[in-house]
Amino acid sequence: MTAYDGMFVDGAWRPARGTGRIEVENPATEEVVASVPAGTAEDVDDAVRAARAALPGWAGTAPARRGAHLTALADALAARQEEIAATVTTELGSPIGFARRVHAGLPVAVARSYAELAATFAFEERIGTSTVLHEPAGLVGAITPWNYPLHQIVAKVAPALAAGCTVVLKPAEYTPLTARLFAECVAAAGLPAGVFNLVTGYGPEAGQPLAEHPDVDLVSFTGSTAVGRRIGALAGGAVKRVALELGGKSANVILPGADLATAVRANVADVVRNAGQSCNALTRTLVHTDHYDEAVALAVEAVAAYVPGDPTDPERRLGPVVSARQRDRVRELLRKGAEEGARVAAGGAEPPEGLDKGYYVRPTVLADVTPDMTVAREEIFGPVLSFLRYRDTEEALRLANDSEYGLSGAVWAADRDEAVAFARRMECGRVDVNGGDFNILAPFGGWKQSGVGRELGVHGLLEYLKTKSLQL
Ligand code: NAD
Repeated sequence: MTAYDGMFVDGAWRPARGTGRIEVENPATEEVVASVPAGTAEDVDDAVRAARAALPGWAGTAPARRGAHLTALADALAARQEEIAATVTTELGSPIGFARRVHAGLPVAVARSYAELAATFAFEERIGTSTVLHEPAGLVGAITPWNYPLHQIVAKVAPALAAGCTVVLKPAEYTPLTARLFAECVAAAGLPAGVFNLVTGYGPEAGQPLAEHPDVDLVSFTGSTAVGRRIGALAGGAVKRVALELGGKSANVILPGADLATAVRANVADVVRNAGQSCNALTRTLVHTDHYDEAVALAVEAVAAYVPGDPTDPERRLGPVVSARQRDRVRELLRKGAEEGARVAAGGAEPPEGLDKGYYVRPTVLADVTPDMTVAREEIFGPVLSFLRYRDTEEALRLANDSEYGLSGAVWAADRDEAVAFARRMECGRVDVNGGDFNILAPFGGWKQSGVGRELGVHGLLEYLKTKSLQL
């Protein structure tokens, strides 16, 4: 067990103001593997002061030069990819293969995309007789969740730095070690002191003071809808800019004629990935009543290939969920699903066999799910698919859009044009058409209760800029 010290403030590790600690648990072994300081409002003050002092210099740095710093940061992250993957496996429980490819690999690509955007984006443009300046929004308070610990950080910090903003980050309490590695990479890349600052801590004690801080110009939050609403209210009251990336209950619509086996297998892979802890997971599968039983049978067969177990095994595709709390929540929702009449076609709330330690959940297929059931409405954040029936395409669309959320969705059809026409009518920020591709330059973000604001690509950059029109 390693006890880490310090907050990364003004370019160096500095002692925390308080004595509180966060214990970091390995969800596969239930052992406490490390501890980090639990920050307070005083640590947040120090970090905000440093970020404020660094702002004029960084905002005044030529964008191409900021881009060069981001390239150095991407290189530093790439150099420590293996260590990052191992750390994510330890504190999140992600299977190591997925941790290497996605948790450690994706952020490098995102950082590089912003290195390039900083160098190529038109920070000044002409609109008729006016010159429009895109200037840094200022000091950014970033609050991130644990489910993709490094990606969530980079998806905020990289565009903020590209835009010329400075940042104070409060990462999730479950995954502070990955955040500390990120800060070490910032230091190794030689970014100017104070441009990026890290305060580890719990939400109410460290996150809230950051969101409320009068010297924070913009709050970028990813996490639960409940906390997002609070932060949105705080920001609204202070007339402060805010970006909220919240939960989802995304629909996967399989239209008649689509390749059922391909669509169902892809759906299972999508939902089991990261033990179901993806905000954009396609957790509501909508199938025409004529193909429903076959689709459920295919899903039952597909989930059997995902055997939960030791995430350090390179062949493993399903590890534990992040915490005892998360496991209990998933199990509780599964019990509720069964109570409300859903049929457990595979998996279920009982602990998986042969695993006496670790927060494991069985990959589960729920059939006979109706739109009013809790499992069709609430985000489960576990490896659980809910299968709903529809009788015609209009009903499929109604069901797909019958959610308070609107983060993402998917549609499968034999005819691509039919799928695209359906996708255009879905109420969400992103739709995968016949499998789609994860394009890191396309905007990501929610409609409805899934949030406001966008991440990734140029749309992610615009979140961190404010405009000024020079009327000439
Ligand atoms: P959470 O809202 O509990 O925590 C998120 C972050 O907010 C953490 O850093 C936490 O410490 C902090 N926080 C908690 N209370 C706070 C407060 N009062 N003030 C300020 N900060 C506070 O969510 P979680 O359980 O860590 O994450 C899971 C949720 O995040 C899921 O609902 C998931 O869908 C959502 N999520 C959304 C996206 C997206 O892009 N839309 C991505 C990942 C996760």
